[in-house]
Amino acid sequence: MNQDRFDVIIIGGGASGLFLASQLPPNLSVALIESNERVGKKLLSTGNGKCNLTNLDMNIVHYNKPSAVEEILDRFDAHDTISTFERMGLITKVIDKRVYPYSECASTVLDVLRRAVEKNGTHILTGHFVNFIENFNDTFTVGGVIKQDDKPNQAFGFKTENVVLATGSPATFGRDSTSLYTAFGHTARQMNPCLVPIKTAKEPIKGLQGVRVKAGVRIGYRYEVGEVLFKDFGVSGIAVFNMSGEIARGRAHAGDLITIDFMPEYSRAEVEEILRKRDSNSTVGEVLIGTFHSKVQDRIMFAAGCSPQDRAAGKISALASAIKSYKLVIEGLADVSLAQVMSGGLDPREFDEGLMSLKVKCAYAVGEALDIDGDCGGYNLQWAWSSAKAVAVAIARKLL
Ligand SMILES: Cc1cc2nc3c(=O)[nH]c(=O)nc-3n(C[C@H](O)[C@H](O)[C@H](O)COP(=O)(O)OP(=O)(O)OC[C@H]3O[C@@H](n4cnc5c(N)ncnc54)[C@H](O)[C@@H]3O)c2cc1C
Repeated sequence: MNQDRFDVIIIGGGASGLFLASQLPPNLSVALIESNERVGKKLLSTGNGKCNLTNLDMNIVHYNKPSAVEEILDRFDAHDTISTFERMGLITKVIDKRVYPYSECASTVLDVLRRAVEKNGTHILTGHFVNFIENFNDTFTVGGVIKQDDKPNQAFGFKTENVVLATGSPATFGRDSTSLYTAFGHTARQMNPCLVPIKTAKEPIKGLQGVRVKAGVRIGYRYEVGEVLFKDFGVSGIAVFNMSGEIARGRAHAGDLITIDFMPEYSRAEVEEILRKRDSNSTVGEVLIGTFHSKVQDRIMFAAGCSPQDRAAGKISALASAIKSYKLVIEGLADVSLAQVMSGGLDPREFDEGLMSLKVKCAYAVGEALDIDGDCGGYNLQWAWSSAKAVAVAIARKLL
């Protein structure tokens, strides 16, 4: 390829970069530059391989910075996502307000995106790692190295009047390339794992590894009911992932408590009543049997300070406390390799409503490169689509 000048250069061929390339007018020359050997690698692992691409409950409270996302999500919401993907050929289905491809296969989403991008005439350059952007006389030079197996690294440099940072985050895999914009004077908050398992003290989770329950999870004032999966190092699952932001954003720390409510549908008084209704001569073991997984039962008895043979009478209150407020001491967040998103990135206040930099004209940013993160449930991909659409509209308005 000998073309070295493009109307638009998008750095990053992930969810936001691909979607942006699919939404730009086809008469523009667009380069999509990706460091991996193929585009959309992270997309393939989303939603446990099923890709939860958006959520019909698109409320801004699901984001870390509601006011920063509100207008952009209003302009391109979950219904716009569904109809845009359907126009690309994707059939979708809804499970509990979460939207998935009908195939429940993330590769189907990547297939239609790739086809839309290719149809749009985008130049896809894989194996190209961008390590600098220079801005001189309203022209950007985007440069770096081409990495190809068995070949020595080669330098590249392309010119453009419009550059978009769509470089995502290192969650699970990937990298933080926000330094490409901090070099322009932008502020970036350090990226910390978010939507990630929580490490806890070991004793209360002993023997529970692999057990999955529907429970209430509380850290401080934040409470959510959902899936909890016990691990040998702590807790995981969707409800825990959504709580991990409290630690990532410094609102909870090592040594604080995370409490599990094993019967979230019932009040504490109701739980006591359920336990008391059982035979008054029952042992503790007999009172709990048939309610919880046997391993959970064991831990509840341990936390309540009783053994299975103890008479239940007199232990009901302690058991109800352990059931409704099972205490785990937080040790920290699990490693970035287990994170779905990162908390941190470029400060969105330094970008206008079309996500153009307020510091350098015609430099845009989208997706996770910005300091926006959402709950589990399709909110992060919706931000990738909505932010990309905002930039596509802004560039189209400017260039056409
Ligand atoms: C395991 C897992 C499951 C998830 N499941 C869901 C889900 O079901 N629903 C949901 O809403 N969200 C989910 N997410 C989050 C979602 O995938 C991300 O929020 C989303 O992919 C962010 O899109 P992005 O385009 O900003 O970044 P990415 O998709 O990460 O893409 C960024 C791209 O930029 C490239 N890049 C970075 N730096 C450079 C550079 N210097 N030069 C060239 N290329 C570069 C990277 O290689 C990467 O391909 C999940 C994440 C993970 C890890």
